[in-house]
Amino acid sequence: MEKLSELYRGKAKTVYSTENPDLLILEFRNDTSALDGQRIEQLERKGLVNNKFNYFIMNKLHEAGIPTQVEALLSDTAILVKKLDMIPVECVIRNRAAGSLVRRLGVEEGFIFNQPTFELFLKNDELHDPMVNDSLCYAFNWATEAQLSQMKTLSFKINTILSDLFDKAGLILVDFKLEFGLFKGEITLGDEFSPDNCRLWEKETLKKMDKDRFRQNLGGVIEAYEEVAKRIGVTL
Ligand code: ADP
Ligand code: UDP
Repeated sequence: MEKLSELYRGKAKTVYSTENPDLLILEFRNDTSALDGQRIEQLERKGLVNNKFNYFIMNKLHEAGIPTQVEALLSDTAILVKKLDMIPVECVIRNRAAGSLVRRLGVEEGFIFNQPTFELFLKNDELHDPMVNDSLCYAFNWATEAQLSQMKTLSFKINTILSDLFDKAGLILVDFKLEFGLFKGEITLGDEFSPDNCRLWEKETLKKMDKDRFRQNLGGVIEAYEEVAKRIGVTL
């Protein structure tokens, strides 16, 4: 499947149309952003690592019965996906406190919750992705009650599947962000799952193995992504 025309250039990926109106190509670039796109740097190999990482995870989720966008891996940096009508809210699941939750609630980083949390954020860089809730989703028509309920159920199910997968590789899945969309009316997992949009800590040392290495200028960003990929069995 060939790229037809560029539809959208995001902070990390470029979206292309194809000859099939139901399918898109996502091209993973090396661009790495923080502070809602205000800081952007190129990290060599990131496009390749995240593309293959995402393909691997989405396949695992598909095998576990999660409806995902994935059609085929096209190249080192490109994947063929179902064209979704994206729901403009990000679903965030947390198992431990980190990032914005630490700033918002003043809890200690690493605090382990009694049960996983589910939060919603509006996808809007200019407004810095403000936190929203179910009532706002219905009021603004971002998602219906049935759609949101399904997104929540799928997010918790994905957390169970992936927490187990990373645990077996000696890693803690601290938190992650998912984006869903509609394909022929069905809620489907879109976008990506990679160390760019989750937090992963080494179990023994609590070493950060995700995009926090970039956000916090810890160095060794791609080396950490590659280490995680190797441990869970992604062929790079
Ligand atoms: P951003 O828009 O946050 O800068 P990216 O650089 O990752 O993010 O751009 C990818 C864009 O493609 C995102 O806006 C995302 O919502 C959208 N997208 C991801 N998967 C799909 C899909 N399967 N169908 C349609 N749009 C998608
Ligand atoms: N996240 C993301 N995109 C966003 C915001 C958050 O992928 O626009 C991910 C982030 O990498 C982390 C989780 O969602 O794994 C929770 O992020 P948080 O709310 O703590 O925000 P942060 O301050 O880390 O951006």
